[in-house]
Amino acid sequence: MIEQSLVLIKPDGVERGLIGEVINRFERRGMKITALKMVWADENLAMKHYTDDITKRRGEKVRNMLVKFITEGPIVAMVVEGADAVEVVRKIVGATEPKSALPGTIRGDYCHISFSHADSIEVPIKNVIHSSGNAEEAKQEISIWFKPQEILDYMRVEELITIGRKAFKKD
Ligand code: ADP
Repeated sequence: MIEQSLVLIKPDGVERGLIGEVINRFERRGMKITALKMVWADENLAMKHYTDDITKRRGEKVRNMLVKFITEGPIVAMVVEGADAVEVVRKIVGATEPKSALPGTIRGDYCHISFSHADSIEVPIKNVIHSSGNAEEAKQEISIWFKPQEILDYMRVEELITIGRKAFKKD
């Protein structure tokens, strides 16, 4: 199924000059960027993104640290589209804990800190990137960061080739 996922390059990714690198990972996999912008989020926007769900799963302290971290500098927000995009994007991104993220994933290639180390020094895990956890979350998150008219409909050349072959295929 063609899906859309929300991706954020967090302030650590922007400050480390990883914008191009991250976008490239999705593009080279054949996924389509259908919306893209740079934002310096305020607390209100950050709280809409990191909802009570984070408090339930990770605790109030982590949520507060995350909101502070994500408003500390500019971030890049984008919508990535493709077949089963939510799951495929998560695979490209890698595990939440950098220590556990496999090499070849974005987090596994650009960070290494563990949950226990981050917790012991009371810092948020700076893992370069956010991506939606499931299809429902993706819809909700996309609506927080983008207006419908900011998401653009076009075809990548691979789609044109596929459609072209289908159209001209003789039985
Ligand atoms: P993901 O970003 O992989 O979907 P979560 O939604 O569970 O993971 O957590 C949101 C973000 O919170 C993580 O990407 C990470 O930056 C941060 N985080 C999660 N757990 C911790 C923790 N124990 N200590 C510090 N930061 C954390």
